[in-house]
Amino acid sequence: MTHFPSVRYDALIVGGGAAGLSAALALGRARRSVVVLDGGEPRNAPASGVHNFLTRDGTPPAELMRLGRAEVEGYGGVVVNGEAVSAARTEDGFTVTTAAGETLSARRILFATGLVDELPDVPGVREHWGTSVLHCPYCHGWEVQDRAIAILATGPKAVHQALLFRQWSDRITLFSHTAPHPTDEEREQLAARGIDVVEGRVVSVESADGTLSGVRLDDGTEHPLDALVVAPTFTARTDLVAQLGVEVLPHPMGVGSYIETDAMGATSVPGVYAAGNVTDLMAQVITSAADGLRAGAALNGDLIMEDTRDAVTVYRAAQAQPVR
Ligand SMILES: Cc1cc2nc3c(=O)[nH]c(=O)nc-3n(C[C@H](O)[C@H](O)[C@H](O)COP(=O)(O)OP(=O)(O)OC[C@H]3O[C@@H](n4cnc5c(N)ncnc54)[C@H](O)[C@@H]3O)c2cc1C
Repeated sequence: MTHFPSVRYDALIVGGGAAGLSAALALGRARRSVVVLDGGEPRNAPASGVHNFLTRDGTPPAELMRLGRAEVEGYGGVVVNGEAVSAARTEDGFTVTTAAGETLSARRILFATGLVDELPDVPGVREHWGTSVLHCPYCHGWEVQDRAIAILATGPKAVHQALLFRQWSDRITLFSHTAPHPTDEEREQLAARGIDVVEGRVVSVESADGTLSGVRLDDGTEHPLDALVVAPTFTARTDLVAQLGVEVLPHPMGVGSYIETDAMGATSVPGVYAAGNVTDLMAQVITSAADGLRAGAALNGDLIMEDTRDAVTVYRAAQAQPVR
C-alpha cells in the first residue's frame, strides 16, 4: 500500500502484531486515517502455530499477520514496514521517526510494541526457544502431552510451573538450577503429583539432529528430555512510550516490566494509548487483539470529542456573526 509521509494521520500505531493490527482494524472501520509502523517481529515468531485463537487454531504466526494486514488495508489503513526509533509530542499530536529517517505524524498514538522474552543464560536454550524450550502450557502444552518435560527452576514460580505442566504430562522433572529450594510443603505437593526434583545446575541444553534431546548438569550427568520449560523475564518494549513521559513499572508479580493503562488502553499521558503485551505481560494473541480493539475504540472516542469541541468553536463563531 502506498504511504504518504506528509500526511497527518488520525492515528499512528507503533507495532503491528495482534494488538496493533486489531486497533488499526477498528480505527479503519471507524473511517479514521490510520498508519501502522511495524518491525515484523511478533513475539511468537519462533512458534509453528498460534493456539487458543478460536477459528484460527494452529495458524502460523506470519500467516495470521498477513491476514491481519490485508484486513486493515481493506479499510484504507496503511501498514509500513520499519522500526520506530524515536517519538515526540508536537503542538497538535505526535511524530515518530523511523530507522530509515522518515517521519510519521498523527493526532493520537498507540503503542502495541509487545515484549521481549529474556531467556535464561544457558547454552542451547535460545536455539530451541518456541519449539521445545517453552514457557506457556496454553501455547504448547497439547503438543508435548505425555512427553518427558523438565522445568528449569530459576525463581520461586518454578514449583507452580511444574504443577501446571503436570496437567499435560505425568513425566515431569524439576531441575533446581538457580531457584530457591522448594519448601517442605512444595516438596510434598511435587511428590504427591509424581514430579521428580533433581538438584544441580543445568549447564547446557543438548541436541541430536537439531532436536532437543536433554540437558547436561554441572556434575556431568545427562538427562534425556523432549521439552524444557523456562521462565523468561518479560521486558515490555517501552523505549518510545517512555520518551513521551509514560512511566515504565516493574510488574507486581516480579516477572518483568510494563506500562500501565486504564481499562480502555489510555496511558497516563493524554493522547497516548497502549495495547497487548506492552501493557499486559500475560496477554495471549486473542486477548491482545481484544485489547487492541478496545484501545482503538477509546482512541476514536477521544478524537470524536476533539472533533466535537472544534465543531462547537466553529459553530459558535458562526452564530456570533451579525445577521445582515
Ligand atoms: C514462543 C511463543 C509462543 C507463543 N504461542 C502462543 C500461542 O500459541 N497462542 C497465543 O495466544 N499466544 C502465544 N504466545 C504469546 C503471543 O506471542 C503474544 O500474546 C502476542 O504476540 C502479543 O501480541 P502483541 O501484538 O502485543 O505483540 P507482538 O505480537 O509481539 O507484536 C509486536 C509488534 O511490534 C513490533 N515492534 C516492536 N517495537 C517496534 C518499533 N520500535 N517499531 C516498529 N515496530 C515495533 C514488533 O516487530 C512486532 O511485530 C506465544 C509467545 C511465545 C514467546
